[in-house]
Amino acid sequence: MLLFRMKDKPKEACGVFGIAGKKGKNVYDKIYYGLFALQHRGQESAGIATSNVDEKNFEWKGIVKGMGIVPEALRNKFIEGNFGIGHVRYSTTGESCIENSQPIQIRCGDEIFAIAHNGNIVNTDEIKQQLKGTTFLTTTDSEVIANLIVYYYTQNKNFLESIKYAMSEIVGSYCLVILYKNKIIAVRDPKGFRPLVIGKNEEGEICVASETCALDAVGFSYLRDVKPGEIFVLEYNNNEISQNTYYIKKDKFSYCMFEYVYFARADSIINNTSVYEVRKKLGKILAEESYVDADIVIPVPDSGITAAIGYAEWCMENKKKICYSEGLMKNRYTGRSFILPHQEDREREVYVKLNPIKSEVEGKNVVLIDDSIVRGTTIKRIIKLLKDKGARKVHVRISCPPIKFPCKFGIDMQTAKEFIAREKSVEEIARLIDADSLKYISLEGLYKAIGTKDLCDACVTGVLPVVEKQKKLID
Ligand code: AMP
Repeated sequence: MLLFRMKDKPKEACGVFGIAGKKGKNVYDKIYYGLFALQHRGQESAGIATSNVDEKNFEWKGIVKGMGIVPEALRNKFIEGNFGIGHVRYSTTGESCIENSQPIQIRCGDEIFAIAHNGNIVNTDEIKQQLKGTTFLTTTDSEVIANLIVYYYTQNKNFLESIKYAMSEIVGSYCLVILYKNKIIAVRDPKGFRPLVIGKNEEGEICVASETCALDAVGFSYLRDVKPGEIFVLEYNNNEISQNTYYIKKDKFSYCMFEYVYFARADSIINNTSVYEVRKKLGKILAEESYVDADIVIPVPDSGITAAIGYAEWCMENKKKICYSEGLMKNRYTGRSFILPHQEDREREVYVKLNPIKSEVEGKNVVLIDDSIVRGTTIKRIIKLLKDKGARKVHVRISCPPIKFPCKFGIDMQTAKEFIAREKSVEEIARLIDADSLKYISLEGLYKAIGTKDLCDACVTGVLPVVEKQKKLID
């Protein structure tokens, strides 16, 4: 069974959290609630690793992990320690298994360190060649990164230098949090594909997290983002948490545009930009680009809500007679349907998850807003649900341009054949999903809403943000 599972190549689009707390305090609860706030980034497994640290000493306390969402995975578990890291994982294809859950524990000389990773490495095969002789216990990229660090450490006995060497070799997206001796080390890849932020509380404790929503959850205020190519180190010095920063060569910033469109939580601030504001702008621009006369604007909850608010605001500002309606009710107790590992589960869940409110939609012309169409499964079923409840027309507006290319950097969009937009025109897709009209936001509109073109938009354009010689690493 294990061997079968190990064949699956999981993706590591996950959530990470790390905290340096005051001497004598336990940070377990803060990590727990930080991870809980990052639950949308991964629902498959969760784990926490801690140490007790002061100026002179450190004591490894261990790792606890489990499958499922945070309350399930960490039920009745606790470890002491004032320094710690945590991880929530979302793998996409195939079976999920405890072996691949994180943080993972790695031996480095006489020491142990723990590592948690969000991202996806594209040159793991080459790195594994270099590490010939190493036994890998998981199929995660994180273990490959960890062993590459160990490989350099055995040569130079300098952990931070070893991270730098590893970073100069790794191609792909990675945000790492590492618990090593008396340090928490946070690392963001030189292109900054995935988010990683730093926060501080009134007691002077410092944490790092994938998104600011996790800082808010534990009462930390947002200081700044870990910069692309930065190694950010927290240590205990003179009864205070000290911060140090090292950089490896900067690259062109290529932040994942899909984090803004869909993946990150709307209340998060990433790269100094509010995800909520971006989503609202996406909706406004969508309305400006493709307004259609209708009675109501309905979001696909939850992913289309903020863009639909933006769309409705634009209509109001432009004196259009169209109102925002909560026409689809969502069952609160279901997770993100797409995130379930099996296609059969995903298909069934659309019906369990959403139900139209008949009195709102019957006899109405509806503008239906969602953030993205991948396979087209969700939107097709929702249109049917709305028409079955009496909607006269359903015009679909999407706040992301057509997705046509697999993501190589950690979002669950893996094979080209899953994309409905790959070989079909917008008109063909509209017919297939039974929409009365279908429009996507333009690429220019997307850039305008996010406020920059320094983005990875390879899922839309097919243009990979890597240098020519790295392209051949990416199948
Ligand atoms: P589909 O039914 O395949 O077209 O999926 C589109 C729906 O899934 C939309 O409602 C999106 O909000 C959501 N979605 C798109 N991409 C992802 C992803 N990578 N992970 C989870 N959900 C997604």
